[in-house]
Amino acid sequence: MTDNAANGYDVIIVGAGPAGLCAAMYAGRGMLKSLTIERGAPGGELLNTDLIEDYIGFESIRGWELAQKMADHAKKFGAVIVTDTVLKVRKADDAWFDVVTAHGRTHRAPAVILTAGGTPVKLGVPGELEHAGKGVSYCAVCDGAFFKGEVLAVVGGGDAAVEEADYLTRYASKVFVVHRRDRFRASKILQERVFANPKIEVIWNKRVLEIKGTERGTDHLVLEDAVTGGRSSLKVGGVFVFIGFKPNTGLIDGHAEHDAAGYLITDDRMMTSIPGLFAAGDVRSQLTRQITTAVGDATTAAIAVEKYLAVLRAGLTVGA
Ligand SMILES: Cc1cc2nc3c(=O)[nH]c(=O)nc-3n(C[C@H](O)[C@H](O)[C@H](O)COP(=O)(O)OP(=O)(O)OC[C@H]3O[C@@H](n4cnc5c(N)ncnc54)[C@H](O)[C@@H]3O)c2cc1C
Repeated sequence: MTDNAANGYDVIIVGAGPAGLCAAMYAGRGMLKSLTIERGAPGGELLNTDLIEDYIGFESIRGWELAQKMADHAKKFGAVIVTDTVLKVRKADDAWFDVVTAHGRTHRAPAVILTAGGTPVKLGVPGELEHAGKGVSYCAVCDGAFFKGEVLAVVGGGDAAVEEADYLTRYASKVFVVHRRDRFRASKILQERVFANPKIEVIWNKRVLEIKGTERGTDHLVLEDAVTGGRSSLKVGGVFVFIGFKPNTGLIDGHAEHDAAGYLITDDRMMTSIPGLFAAGDVRSQLTRQITTAVGDATTAAIAVEKYLAVLRAGLTVGA
């Protein structure tokens, strides 16, 4: 079923995390007719976060509560949020976008803001999901301060793992970096910083088999030696997993420029290399991924869409 030009969407927003909700709020304030499509409950990663203590203006707020406030705020300015999964975003021959969903609908608009975020790669071991948010974290900037004085483990060997291990030593009494190989993939300069940090100890050639703990948090890791197969345990008060993050960009039909890790590259108006397709938040290539950066991107994207549509409707060449 095609939900087409007759309904006259100016912009379709994919995802209703902080970026999507903020884009929807600004689109409403800009008098744009928007449709926001979210596969789950509005809030995105906020719904996987217990306490947020770094969103300016809110000294401490529960993730679900901030999500609710953002959704209410967006709806106050006319946001329409539907529950559906976007399967494909395709630019058609008439330069409008077809946004195809799992419920068999095709929504159409001349502009799309992709705010589908990304997913931290999980270890996939027993105890990981049970302790997520209660001792297991995927974000050092977000959760590091909750682990003051603790002994922590960082799992991984790439740039993110070694950089975040170094960052976590400002809170932790000690940080073990557990890596399944005998060398890091991380860049040399980051490795040197880690080797020089007296609070960090690297445990080479060890795989995490299980995360053990109680209701209140983690207690220890069960490790397996990648060479001998021998088992050992490592007592830790928290585990930070940095073994990759996958941006949700697979739904784009066609090539949009991205960086080596797959994050979308945009210009300073958040437009991707596909004219009319904007990206904001965690899906975008940038230095850091936080709620503040997601809503900042989204603000720019929604306002840029207004200007993009004005140029388009005046029959001028976009970018001229
Ligand atoms: C455990 C954890 C704790 C964190 N804590 C903090 C913190 O304390 N402070 C902070 O500033 N940041 C924190 N962050 C980071 C912050 O949550 C993200 O930077 C922010 O949520 C990014 O917003 P977003 O809207 O870009 O993406 P997301 O929040 O990931 O939202 C994307 C939305 O798109 C939806 N979606 C994806 N694909 C589709 C599809 N195909 N169709 C329809 N919908 C789709 C998803 O369901 C999701 O709701 C944390 C992250 C994690 C993982």
